[in-house]
Amino acid sequence: MPANHEHFVKKNAAYVSTFTKGALALPPSKHLTVVTCMDARIEPAGQLGIELGEAHIIRNAGGSAREALRSIVISQRLLGTREIAVFHHTGCGMLTFSTDQLKAIVKDAAPGDTKVEEEVEKFDSFLEFSELEQSVKGDVEFLQGNPLVLKETKITGWTYDVQSGKISQVV
Ligand SMILES: [Zn+2]
Repeated sequence: MPANHEHFVKKNAAYVSTFTKGALALPPSKHLTVVTCMDARIEPAGQLGIELGEAHIIRNAGGSAREALRSIVISQRLLGTREIAVFHHTGCGMLTFSTDQLKAIVKDAAPGDTKVEEEVEKFDSFLEFSELEQSVKGDVEFLQGNPLVLKETKITGWTYDVQSGKISQVV
């Protein structure tokens, strides 16, 4: 497998040579949290016009608001964010499998290993979804109904099209 990390130091030196934003404050200046997928084709800063220091970007497989909740509580209560935008996207890997299928893949790769079996069964769900806009609505509703999310939070839901680069508001 390629050892990509071998290029980090050289690439970083180039970044450091033009870096001028070392004095930014810790709390995001736009009071914004974006929840989006880890998909390698997504680059929220450029796609949404967000600069360094302006927002929290929480990323996971699918852009799951449920999985992001721990980070959202920290973002809101300790770092003052008051707006959440949830993004799911076309062509997402989360549209392509079921929790049972993924559990079987993990178990089949380690036949008879009870530790692996036990650990993978700890996931009730891998939070896959079968319909894009419906999954965005579901995550927005989850946040709106969750007592840990501040009542005054402005919550919106969006899709991102990986082919055109275009976003659309769902909620
Ligand atoms: Zn995705």
